[in-house]
Amino acid sequence: MIVVLKPNHNPSQMESLISWLREKNITIHTSVGQANTILGLVGDTSQLDVDLIAALDIVEDVKRVQEPYKNANRKFHPEDTVIQVGNTQVGGGNLTIMAGPCSVESEEQAVAVAKAVKAAGATMFRGGAFNSRTSPYAFWGMGERGLAYLKAARDETGLPIVTELTDINQLALFRDVDVIQIGTRNMQNVDLLKAVGHQDKPVVLKRGRSATYEEWLMSAEYIMAGGNENVILCERGIRTFESYTRNTLDLASIPVLRRLTHLPVIVDPSHATGKYWLVDSLAMGAVAAGADGVQIEVHNDPAHALCDGPLALKLDAFTPLAGKLLALHAALKGMEGQA
Ligand code: PEP
Ligand code: MN
Repeated sequence: MIVVLKPNHNPSQMESLISWLREKNITIHTSVGQANTILGLVGDTSQLDVDLIAALDIVEDVKRVQEPYKNANRKFHPEDTVIQVGNTQVGGGNLTIMAGPCSVESEEQAVAVAKAVKAAGATMFRGGAFNSRTSPYAFWGMGERGLAYLKAARDETGLPIVTELTDINQLALFRDVDVIQIGTRNMQNVDLLKAVGHQDKPVVLKRGRSATYEEWLMSAEYIMAGGNENVILCERGIRTFESYTRNTLDLASIPVLRRLTHLPVIVDPSHATGKYWLVDSLAMGAVAAGADGVQIEVHNDPAHALCDGPLALKLDAFTPLAGKLLALHAALKGMEGQA
């Protein structure tokens, strides 16, 4: 349920409404917008009398929210969420470019790739230390050593680091990571979602490869219900009948999620198809469709990569792409407000 307050409501009346609702075990999310303040009510709202609340002096409107996700719902929080990561922001009209290898393989490799992607315009360095893979025989990442290589890359470049968490027991090792990623295979691993919801680092939540928008947003809801509102949704392709590409990129997810949620939305064009030569077009398509950013796999030597070589861009292919993405984003911003 949402309660829209009148523009010049009396703050002490608002406080008494909030305490009355809290006594009924309702959690309140307050969103202060330019025009109105909105109270988002989470809990068993079936016990509340809509007419009684609507009749209060300070209340302009009361609406029941049908969708099962509440915290992630744009109705609760009409303004876009902007997430601060180091000195860069995700959302709010910024273009986030996360780039780096599938797995970090050595300190030299991590530092070299981080320097190159930073010079090209990337705003964060991504790299797996604990990779989730489909095959038990595939490379699973360098674990704790991989985290140390990521930190070395951050020390050298200042780029915040993004890396995947696959097990709750790894959380203690992630204290120094900037952004935690939950991979497609774990989108509905509720224990993992609850664990990242109870800490305050931003989370990139990749779409489960067979997840509907509602299922994906319910996973975001798990994280947010624990108190962590800093969730970045990442479209990374879904499973369809098409087998030429690894997955099928759902670009409609960008405008759909814009409507359903206030959370930032980024796109991973690399895992979306599994082919390096499709990354350029799909990344441009994602930015044109309004994504808040992209996550792109980049490797210094894709032919010898321990993981996902066929989809990785070489450094000299990433540089012009990053330039094009930034130019496209700037051009689109320039068009805003034009007829
Ligand atoms: C990754 O980002 O390295 C990864 C494995 O992605 P996904 O979970 O989307 O497959
Ligand atoms: Mn990968």
